Amino acid sequence: MLKVYNTLSRSKEKFEPLEGNHVRMYVCGPTVYDYPHIGNARSFAVFDTIRRYLEYSGYRVTYITNFTDVDDKMIDRANREGISVPELAAKFISEYRTIANELNLKPATINPRATEHIDDMIEMTELIIKNGLGYEVGGDVYFDVSEYEDYGILSKISPDELSSGARVEVDSKKQDPRDFVLWKAEKPGEPSWESPWGKGRPGWHAECSAMGKHFLGVPFDIHGGGQDLIFPHHENEIAQSAGAYGVDTPVKYWLHNGFLTIDKDKMSKSEGNFFTAREVLDNFDHQAVRYFLISGHYRQPLDYNTDALKQATQTVDRIRNSVDTLRGRLVILERGQIESSESDIVVDTAIEKFREGFEREMDDDFNTPGALAELFTFIKVVNTHTENISRPAIIRKALATLTEIVGVLGIELEKESAGLEKSESTETLKGTIELLLEIREKARESKDWETADMIRDRLDELGITITDTKDGPTWKIK
Ligand code: AMP
Ligand code: ZN
Repeated sequence: MLKVYNTLSRSKEKFEPLEGNHVRMYVCGPTVYDYPHIGNARSFAVFDTIRRYLEYSGYRVTYITNFTDVDDKMIDRANREGISVPELAAKFISEYRTIANELNLKPATINPRATEHIDDMIEMTELIIKNGLGYEVGGDVYFDVSEYEDYGILSKISPDELSSGARVEVDSKKQDPRDFVLWKAEKPGEPSWESPWGKGRPGWHAECSAMGKHFLGVPFDIHGGGQDLIFPHHENEIAQSAGAYGVDTPVKYWLHNGFLTIDKDKMSKSEGNFFTAREVLDNFDHQAVRYFLISGHYRQPLDYNTDALKQATQTVDRIRNSVDTLRGRLVILERGQIESSESDIVVDTAIEKFREGFEREMDDDFNTPGALAELFTFIKVVNTHTENISRPAIIRKALATLTEIVGVLGIELEKESAGLEKSESTETLKGTIELLLEIREKARESKDWETADMIRDRLDELGITITDTKDGPTWKIK
């Protein structure tokens, strides 16, 4: 039974979708004004893993993740570069897609762009005003927090803390410092759209509420994002959906990933302590980057440093080595009968235990470190026993299980593998034996019997018999 930690209740809850087998999931996506940093990539990889595990568990998942393609940062950057906001968005959406592909993020069901849903945001804002929870001042529209008694339900910040903590900008038109903007009046040189309150653009929080409702309805099952989004972004989303659509919460399970840190500080653009996902992917094996991003529990902080990435690279290579050893053994077994062995039973039992252990850990709020521990226990058994496995079926089962399960974690062993494809590996083995036989023939021609015999004996030890015939040597695997 899958349990997930819900930020709303601050506890692990049994996971049950609202509609049968269908999971409707929304994850806050990138603001496409710059290259995402590797901390943003952690959020993307975490929710991709959660989605993959839900699919593995038999659910049908509708996965929506947006592009924030209009906001202050986008406008600033576009102005600095002398390009339009849509041009800037197009450039970084394309960068995001490249990075997503390299990190093995499964394509979302839909990647809506905020600017394609301005109508939905206007409609939601109109409903909020109609229901008495919003007001307009000089072309701006604000959410009236004093009219919504559950404000703070997600972040658990009390109204007093909110009032004392909120800074009021000097020129604010807000009635209360806690109020937040739903619609901003046009400023010169900024992109704008027609609305009942004059030309302007939506507030950031309005985006995800309106697009979530548009694609998934309310309430839907899972809303994800980094812990920095709990307040104010997701708190405000709840308020907006309550105000517009009359639901207590637009989402059943609120999931938030912990931060990627550098020397224990949150990685962020504004602090300048960041590495872009692009530079990390340029410097390390992509599968290792993905492995690193999911190696910690998603709710805990994860510290970024070069050593951690180097270690992840070695770990992924260890998985690949085991796969290559299994494949090598399969090639040998496919060439001849070998008596059944004790190792067949040991490995077969370990495969079942591995799957069970993986599911147990992932069912516990997607505990990837626990799942990886199960993986390495299995790899240890495989490494000890592969050379003695006798049945090809066991090897195939071990390979299929390994590939499937690391695939649920988003690690694709075939991509950039140091190892070889099965067919290539067969060809490589054949080629290597032929080469050794040629060297042996050369040794025999020059009467270097010692080298010739050494090659024959060493191949024999590896299970390859050489027979000298009048047409030259032949070989077979014992
Ligand atoms: P942004 O493009 O800033 O809207 O961020 C995209 C996603 O990355 C959001 O879900 C953020 O919460 C998340 N995020 C931002 N910084 C970090 C970090 N240092 N570690 C993990 N996730 C982060
Ligand atoms: Zn969002």
